[in-house]
Amino acid sequence: MQKEQYLGVYVSTLPYDDILADIEKRMAAGQKSTIIAVNPEKVIAAGKNEELKQLINAATYQIPDGIGVVLASKLKGGRLASRVTGIDLMERLIARAAEKGYRVFLYGAKEEVVKKAKENLEAKYPRLCIAGYMNGYVNDDEAVVRAINEANADMLFVALGSPRQELWIRAHMDRLNVKVFQGVGGSFDVFAG
Ligand code: UDP
Repeated sequence: MQKEQYLGVYVSTLPYDDILADIEKRMAAGQKSTIIAVNPEKVIAAGKNEELKQLINAATYQIPDGIGVVLASKLKGGRLASRVTGIDLMERLIARAAEKGYRVFLYGAKEEVVKKAKENLEAKYPRLCIAGYMNGYVNDDEAVVRAINEANADMLFVALGSPRQELWIRAHMDRLNVKVFQGVGGSFDVFAG
């Protein structure tokens, strides 16, 4: 895995296509992958908070979501060529899911937002299977875990805000029959338009 380190926080240097290829290789091998977006604010916060640092560093991919991370890499002669944003990576994973028949679950945001995001994504990618969704205000982790497993989801996008979404993924991923986990912040609001 290609990574650089800032204040002890890992940042992946892989471009979109390499991340997608790597994730699919891991899916084929039955391995779970977790994706967390990193920006300079998170690097600084993690530099002062060991638990947050460990949470970030334990992910499979720490994507350079902020331009500041790319600039920092350039300044120290690193390999990071451009940003990999959470929302773009999510959409590329969705496109791949539509192409390959992977089942997707959306968890988080308000009910009308997640529902509209699902409808808009399905309209844009007619072959996409969003096998289920749940809003982020249910406060019943057991029900969410059950719904995701019953939906047989391959990819799970969690929009609860950071670091709550990453903590949720870490706490529940072992019990979930999911291969790809991404914390996506306000992305459902964007897809809902
Ligand atoms: N959210 C949620 N449940 C909560 C709190 C927040 O589902 O208890 C959702 C909220 O509706 C929004 C997303 O989490 O869709 C957070 O987006 P925000 O832009 O605040 O996250 P960030 O990208 O800043 O981490």
